[in-house]
Amino acid sequence: MTDMFRLRGGDRLVIATHNEGKLREFRELFDPFGLDLVSAGELGLPEPEETGATFVENARIKAHASAEGSGYLSLADDSGLCVDALDGQPGVYTADWAGVPRDFRRAMQRVENQLQAKGAISPGARRASFRATLCLAHPDGTDMIFEGRADGMLVWPPRGDLGFGYDPAFMPDGFDITFGQMPSGDKHSWSPGQVGLSHRARAFAKLVEACCEP
Ligand code: IMP
Repeated sequence: MTDMFRLRGGDRLVIATHNEGKLREFRELFDPFGLDLVSAGELGLPEPEETGATFVENARIKAHASAEGSGYLSLADDSGLCVDALDGQPGVYTADWAGVPRDFRRAMQRVENQLQAKGAISPGARRASFRATLCLAHPDGTDMIFEGRADGMLVWPPRGDLGFGYDPAFMPDGFDITFGQMPSGDKHSWSPGQVGLSHRARAFAKLVEACCEP
C-alpha cells in the first residue's frame, strides 16, 4: 500500500453515507483513532445512484463520488443481507426491499414471507449472511477494497430494538440473541487486534490493519 491511504490522528475522512445507522457504527469503530470524521450528508454531497450489480461496484460509486466531491479520502460501505434459501436475495437490493420511505419492518416481513413460501421453518433452512464491502477512495481516483461477512440465521418475529435495518431478524452464529438485542459494542466485538463480529466490523478490521496507525 502506498502512503496515500494511510490514516493518522487528525486526518479528515469522509464517511460516504446518508445512512444514520452506518454512520453511527463508523463513528464508534473509528473512535480510538482520533480522525476528523465527517459524513457525505453533513457536507451536503448528493447521494449517487447505486447502479452497480455487486457490493464492490456500489461501494466504489459512493466512495469515488464523495472523494471527488469533497477532495478528501472517503470511505463508503455497501452492505446487505444474503439469504441462502432465496439464492442470495435481497443482496445488493437489501435497502430497496424496505420501499420508499424506508420501512424495515416491512422489509423483514417480505423476507419472512418468501422463506415461509419455501417452507423454510427449520434453523438450517433459514441461513443468511450480512456482507459489507468497504471502499476507501482517494480523490485521484484510486481505491482500496475491504470485505467482511457475518453468518447466522433469520428468526421470526424480529427481536430487539437496537441497531438498524434488519438487525432484529438476524441471529449471528454462536449467539442466542439477535443483533437487534445487542448493544453496538457487542455487535462490533472489535478492538485493535481483534477480527470483530459484525460484517462491518470484520471489514473494518482489515482496513485498520492496512491503513491505520497503531
Ligand atoms: P446500502 O449499502 O446503502 O445499499 O444499504 C444496505 C442495507 O442493508 C441497509 O439499508 C440495511 O437495511 C441493510 N444492512 C446493512 N448492514 C446492516 C446491519 O449492520 N444491520 C442491519 N441491516 C444492515
